[in-house]
Amino acid sequence: MRKMSILSLVFLLLPLAAFKSLPSSTSSLDTTYIVKVDASTREERTDISSLGVSIEEVYDTHIVGTCRPAQLADLKAKGFAFESFSLPAFLLDFPPGDGDFHNLNELNSEMSTLAQTYSHIATLSSIGKSIEGRDLWMMRISGPQTTGGEKPGIIFLGTHHAREHLSTEVPFFLIKHLLENYGKDEKITRFINEREIWIIPLVNPDGTDYDITDKPYKWWRKNRQGKGANEVYGVDLNRNYGYKWGGAGAGTDPSSETYRGPSAFSEPETQAVKTFIESHPNITTLLSYHTFSELILYPWGYTYDSIEDQRALKVHEAMAQSMGRMTGYRPQQSSDLYITSGDTTDWSFGEHKIFSFTFELYPASVWDGGFYPPASVIQNVVKNNIPPALYLIDYADNPYRVITTVQPRDFLTVSDVWPPKAR
Ligand SMILES: [Zn+2]
Repeated sequence: MRKMSILSLVFLLLPLAAFKSLPSSTSSLDTTYIVKVDASTREERTDISSLGVSIEEVYDTHIVGTCRPAQLADLKAKGFAFESFSLPAFLLDFPPGDGDFHNLNELNSEMSTLAQTYSHIATLSSIGKSIEGRDLWMMRISGPQTTGGEKPGIIFLGTHHAREHLSTEVPFFLIKHLLENYGKDEKITRFINEREIWIIPLVNPDGTDYDITDKPYKWWRKNRQGKGANEVYGVDLNRNYGYKWGGAGAGTDPSSETYRGPSAFSEPETQAVKTFIESHPNITTLLSYHTFSELILYPWGYTYDSIEDQRALKVHEAMAQSMGRMTGYRPQQSSDLYITSGDTTDWSFGEHKIFSFTFELYPASVWDGGFYPPASVIQNVVKNNIPPALYLIDYADNPYRVITTVQPRDFLTVSDVWPPKAR
């Protein structure tokens, strides 16, 4: 936690006035600012989000987020009261021990070893390429087919946002946990035999690689889209999905933190996820990992309205509440915080009726480590997030079981309500 004490110290010691003027030496397009903006309603927060500020923490009277210089000007023009400070000015170094996070090579190599070791239940394949041509690796975990029918499927997605490194570690260690416990743990063995489980730990490899190459870290969020190597602006992959794309709560300026892209699914990374999901209609459930804030979010993000279908709403609420009890994270509808459009879960539920959740993992606040907590927390965060993952895998045969008395089948058969909708 040394890193954050440095952050806190700097924040406390420097007079607030110093944050209000932008040091010209650092106001390049690549500079990230932390902003604290006065806002007490979700409508105000939506306006801030629509300007392209990435909101990371919501409080009663203000938000804390990140943005680029153009958004500071926009906040000012719109009359928001805010304080800002640029990160490179003081984020000089990080504490030792971050080596336990996986870089791309380590992640790919460990995934490959796991696939070889557990080849009877695990298959590693690429669902497509990133903008810079990196493979998007996915682990399929499923036991030998036990009935003639298709198995219910569940998909876990990690790290749409480059700097959210714990959101790679959690799905990676979920893979490891499932594989290592097959044949040992009765429940996990049954889940793997009766389900098709897909896990993509890193949807945005280019952005992540950019973020961690050379210290200090770059606080990079988006992918690496651009007009060539020297003009990378990036698209926010979690604002690029195609359900109600183009609404409020996403940036329209390419420099903004939440730039939605020129059109829905304009990016190869979101395209790959779309193609994969659409070619696997047995997927009933989806969990997308992000950091941070310790929240469990469910649709909708694009509107303040609740999910219209009362049964589907109840399933989301009941599952989010159960998982909230398991983790200590706060369950809520995504737009209770502020509107976002074009996110993964609005699309997967809105377009395909897949029960969908976004986890904002540890920590609760930027002052507890934000995007860069020390590696010593990884295993605790993983441990905290195994139970909700197993819970979703369990209910993936028929998520409506959480609100009815329908019992799980002793063995796999297609239930009355599964798959929920042909597509
Ligand atoms: Zn995120």
